[in-house]
Amino acid sequence: MIGATTSGELRAHNRVRLLRAVHDCGATRTRSQLTRDLHLARGTASVLVAGLAEHELLHEEPAREHGRGRPTQVPGPHPRGPLALAVDVREDAWELAACELGGRTTVLGLQPHDGTPEGTLGPLGDAIAAHRRRLGHRVVGVGVALAGPVRHGGLVDIAHLGWRSVDVPRLLGTKAPIVGNDTAFAALAEARRGRLQGVRVGLHLHVDFDLGGVLVVEGRPLGGASGTGAEFGHMPLTGGDRPCPCGATGCWSMDVGANALLRHVGLAYGGGRGRAQAEEVLAGSEEAVAANARALGRGIAALVNAHDPEAVTLSGHGVELYGRAGQALMESCVPGLMAIRRDHPPRIEGSALGWRGALLGAMESVFDAFLTPEGLERWRENHPDQGRDTPERSNVTHSTLKGAKPL
Ligand SMILES: [Zn+2]
Repeated sequence: MIGATTSGELRAHNRVRLLRAVHDCGATRTRSQLTRDLHLARGTASVLVAGLAEHELLHEEPAREHGRGRPTQVPGPHPRGPLALAVDVREDAWELAACELGGRTTVLGLQPHDGTPEGTLGPLGDAIAAHRRRLGHRVVGVGVALAGPVRHGGLVDIAHLGWRSVDVPRLLGTKAPIVGNDTAFAALAEARRGRLQGVRVGLHLHVDFDLGGVLVVEGRPLGGASGTGAEFGHMPLTGGDRPCPCGATGCWSMDVGANALLRHVGLAYGGGRGRAQAEEVLAGSEEAVAANARALGRGIAALVNAHDPEAVTLSGHGVELYGRAGQALMESCVPGLMAIRRDHPPRIEGSALGWRGALLGAMESVFDAFLTPEGLERWRENHPDQGRDTPERSNVTHSTLKGAKPL
């Protein structure tokens, strides 16, 4: 909150800044480091940390290593603190996780689905509701990544599965989920905790059954006017002429990803089927992998010419394609670069987050909404027993969590 004028507003502003700093560093920095980073007075930091601990937003642990003198404290997530539920809905399965402040993630479920909107989102909605009941007020939001363009409000199209304008929030039955594209979420996570940290203009590509790509500017994936950006995969960058399930012809994503690997070796593909076989092809067929990597490299060159990114990061199968056939990728990419780009090509790297990017990006979106003065005020209102001298109310509120495991 810029322009905080009253002391209350200033305190709220500093609480958000401190929690944000703890979250962004992955709960690794000591209180004194954070105090310096945020230009806080030591006394102010002590009061802030004490207040946040009282509200079960933070908990301090002694640093593992410290020099002489008093042990240094590291602020991190409170054992009864806020949780983001994050989901990555892929074409064949969904993964649901609970994420603490700082980004520590516990997988709660991984379940295959039948590919229909109801058969996918119905059981997922039930699982979310069950974990919400179990975790109670600790759940501050739900973020859902989907493998298709998502319009503002949560309408999604997944061409491979035949989904058109599927109303995700309605079918989930979940209160106000944050619904987004998997590539855009993976890119957001890469910008926050991966290899696009501190990069002003980056390009992120996520490869699963097909390929998605998005430009990341100042840490934010460009979402487009209606929210359906992150669709570089549906540009004719490789000169192909196959019709794509999206309705266009010659899309780049027809040539990169699990579907393209399966097609290359003559196996059936599409409809979110064949992940295990595609992984076998990826591990065993050098030719199929090289063909995928060449198509990936050619498209990257076109996008680098257009956008001049500092870095190109790859997640999902992109990590393996680059690892296994990096040379083929570069041999295809470099001739496609303009001369002025060839002198200073961007670095190309596999993601530091592997397959977790989409899930972590969904988490970041939930904490972005929570780590605001309004979000923290809601937390306080939902914890009427916290920070007051009313021990009997405290006992009542937390009795439901007694004996339960931390998550
Ligand atoms: Zn397409």
